[in-house]
Amino acid sequence: MIWYPYEQMKTMKEPYEIVDAEGVYLYTKDGSRLIDSISSWWSTIHGYKHPVLTEAITAQAEKFSHVMLGGLTHEPVKKLAAKLEEWLPGDLDYCFFSDSGSVAVEVALKMALQYHMNKGDKERTKVLSLTNSYHGDTFKAMEAGDDEDYHFVLEAYGKNENVVHIPTEIPELEKAFDEYHDSLNSFIVEPLLQGAGGMLMYDVSFLERARELCDEYDVLLIFDEVATGFGRTGNRFVADLVQPDILILGKALTGGYIGHAVTVADHKVYDAFYSDDPDKALMHGPTFMGNPLACSAALKSIEVFEEEDYMSKISDITRIMRREMADFTDPRIKEIRIMGGCICIEVKDSSVLKGFREFAYEHGVFNRPFLSYMYAMVPYIITEEELVHVLDTMKAWFKCDY
Ligand SMILES: *Cc1c(COP(=O)(O)O)cnc(C)c1O
Repeated sequence: MIWYPYEQMKTMKEPYEIVDAEGVYLYTKDGSRLIDSISSWWSTIHGYKHPVLTEAITAQAEKFSHVMLGGLTHEPVKKLAAKLEEWLPGDLDYCFFSDSGSVAVEVALKMALQYHMNKGDKERTKVLSLTNSYHGDTFKAMEAGDDEDYHFVLEAYGKNENVVHIPTEIPELEKAFDEYHDSLNSFIVEPLLQGAGGMLMYDVSFLERARELCDEYDVLLIFDEVATGFGRTGNRFVADLVQPDILILGKALTGGYIGHAVTVADHKVYDAFYSDDPDKALMHGPTFMGNPLACSAALKSIEVFEEEDYMSKISDITRIMRREMADFTDPRIKEIRIMGGCICIEVKDSSVLKGFREFAYEHGVFNRPFLSYMYAMVPYIITEEELVHVLDTMKAWFKCDY
């Protein structure tokens, strides 16, 4: 018996069974063809069955599918680390791999705490974070997050003294640094676009001010780009605009082909661990970190991203979304937000979206709204016609008598 994610198993609707997938299309057991409008949780940026990625994985599987990174290393992980070192901005050069975004967040938060401990400061136990943030479902990631809809289990522990949440407003940011700078080890954000918290978008000036304050008080700035990385905001990485001390990538890292993530540190962070003292080492090591199949897929994914100029594909997607939504309004809609390869229609009352998954299915689109958010995060290889069809389906929902 499968226990499905984020579901009340008693009332859950049957999931659609997928038997094949290619490009933007999912093929179901009952013979339907659906455009995947949310890229399998925002990860499959190249669509399904991309020949280059499939070939990379198959070729590696014929050599070896996995070896541990403890005491061993291999070419796929070395090549991927070298590529990321060259490709990521500034001195974000030190790659710690892990098997999922949540674990990569745990690693980042552990790094930030230990960074200060290694420098002799054990008082910095607090993490600054944003309201409505989402950083994964493991425990420290849940604490850093602020999403009662996902993490109400934390209620059992009462107020957490080690996490401070602020809205994306500069005066609140300055106030938090004023009050807590001695006890903060890091400030973790989903930069520009808060995904699971409701596709909320904010301005880069907030991050620029955060960078200044973090520098002033030696607080590490962590960008959780598990969702926003690889072009989703219309920037390759938000880290290209404002450089964090630690950058976390996941989801689209492998093109969505195999679960993998990376926590990338800059020189300043790495140097605080680099020592003759064994107690200053980072004590972490997921069994499947640096998995050769995942690293082979990730390397090819980045090469395709560059060679096929995905950034221009993404700006086309943004342009089409803006054009198609320009004259669209409905009294039940609170706001329509568009950024890069993401569109969100927020409704005033979540009951308005009840039944949309089935409606989209009837129109040949897979979509899965949550709470009061109907959104699309399409694979970047989508054609104009397919994208317009996704957007038409979203708009049609507000016109029909459901
Ligand atoms: C999805 C997500 C995570 C968690 O990644 P998993 O691979 O699901 O563990 C963390 N942070 C952000 C911003 C995410 O969107």
